[in-house]
Amino acid sequence: MATATASLKRMYIDGKWSAAENGKTLGVINPATEAVIDEIAYGGRGEARHALEAAQRAMPAWMKLTAWDRAKILKKTADLMRERLDALARTLTMEQGKPVAESKAEILHSADTFEWFAEEGKRAYGQVIPNSQPGKRHVTVKHPVGVVGAISPWNFPITLQSRKIAPALAVGCTVVAKPASQTPLSLVQVFECMIEAGLPAGVANLVMGPAQEIADEFLENPICRKISFTGSTEVGKQLMRGAADQVKRISLELGGHAPLIVFPDADPEAVAKAAVIGKFRNNGQVCIAPSRFFIHKDVQKKFTEAAVEFARNLKLGNGLDAGTEIGPMFEKRAMEQAIALVDDAKRHGAKVLTGGKRSTRFEHGYFFEPTVLADLSPQSRILTDEPFAPVMPLLDFNKIEDVIQAANNTRYGLASYVFTNDLTIAWRMAEGLEAGIICINDPVPAVPQCPFGGMKESGLGRELAHEGLEAYLETKYVSFKLRDS
Ligand code: NAP
Repeated sequence: MATATASLKRMYIDGKWSAAENGKTLGVINPATEAVIDEIAYGGRGEARHALEAAQRAMPAWMKLTAWDRAKILKKTADLMRERLDALARTLTMEQGKPVAESKAEILHSADTFEWFAEEGKRAYGQVIPNSQPGKRHVTVKHPVGVVGAISPWNFPITLQSRKIAPALAVGCTVVAKPASQTPLSLVQVFECMIEAGLPAGVANLVMGPAQEIADEFLENPICRKISFTGSTEVGKQLMRGAADQVKRISLELGGHAPLIVFPDADPEAVAKAAVIGKFRNNGQVCIAPSRFFIHKDVQKKFTEAAVEFARNLKLGNGLDAGTEIGPMFEKRAMEQAIALVDDAKRHGAKVLTGGKRSTRFEHGYFFEPTVLADLSPQSRILTDEPFAPVMPLLDFNKIEDVIQAANNTRYGLASYVFTNDLTIAWRMAEGLEAGIICINDPVPAVPQCPFGGMKESGLGRELAHEGLEAYLETKYVSFKLRDS
């Protein structure tokens, strides 16, 4: 269903809002209604080049500012995002589908991220290193890496750009941001906050258009010194190959297939509730969402009954409606992928305990019922492919060694969840699991001050925390030979 469009949202290049040179626009669809809610300017490689050039011109003055002065703009951006919480949340829900409460949580986390990096930018310390030869002195100083190309997906349109823009700007880099084509509107509003906060022209730019074209410009144009990408492992690998030509710096936040492991000492009903919260947040369309559930045989029955009950009672609906706990999936293709994964699991013998299909309650929108599956065959695609869907496949285990091995049996290594009250088991799991984020009894771990990122094919580098600041810094070693007297 398509309706008349409200307005055209433009790109932001060199301090000006601009339409695409080719005049192209793209409709943004509300996944709850399938209506076009707005048009965006849909440029291409030319705009990406202009934006990189503007970012290059802006960088000398920006990096000369003190970290304190840059921080004022970032901090003010955070304040404005908080002031505009309701309007921002409405836009985010309309373009992405998640319930307003989740949109608000995303915006507040993003505002906190701007504020935290505003402060951490003041701590881009070098070192004084003891000399081994008389008369020599050695120090390291930190230097901004240069102009950054930042590419992000649709599942957390504000958060995932904030994790790039805030640290890059904090240390004196300048940025060209490219959001996902389906969810650019809320980022336009964040740019409005940055501009009102005093962002100088060219320091942060926003381009929209075909991803491959924009990425090619980032890869081939030497002005762009770093690419920070969040998205699928497949695209991440392509970018990594492309970055090799100019030895371009690259950070990758990619896919995941997180195990969630429940030990028999944990309360199975309380854990089922936490597991359902962790799984169905943003409809399972979360890189760190648990997606393989290993339940100890002693608590399997109780956990399963409770999880099915919680999942079945989640309120599905338009994210703007009060009381909605699960919105639509973000696009038709995502819903079809969920249906295909469930059908494949069923063909291999899985039992659907609840859900498993598109909801018939809605005339429009990509609504898929929260789903719990049991009796999975190891051949089921859902156990190897990243599901990115509201589907909970239940597995079981007996011994700790077996579950560590099964949990690590994946090319991904982003997050892992362990539920236990036994400190020794918790440590053994934290040490044995191959994942960048280990959550003990914690279904929602991300905070600005702690490192976020993956091992294996889940990525390269870390966002957030001091590591997320270092990602935008080079280390310069300065060696002094002093005069003899
Ligand atoms: P995707 O297809 O890789 O798209 C992500 C971004 O990359 C979008 O802006 C997209 O632009 C762009 N893109 C697409 N093709 C490209 C290309 N050839 N070169 C450069 N950029 C390209 O990812 P997705 O499937 O939409 O997003 C979900 C994935 O992101 C999942 O795998 C999820 O796990 C991962 N993710 C990871 C994290 C993390 O922190 N580790 C966080 C969130 C999501 P268009 O929209 O214009 O196509």
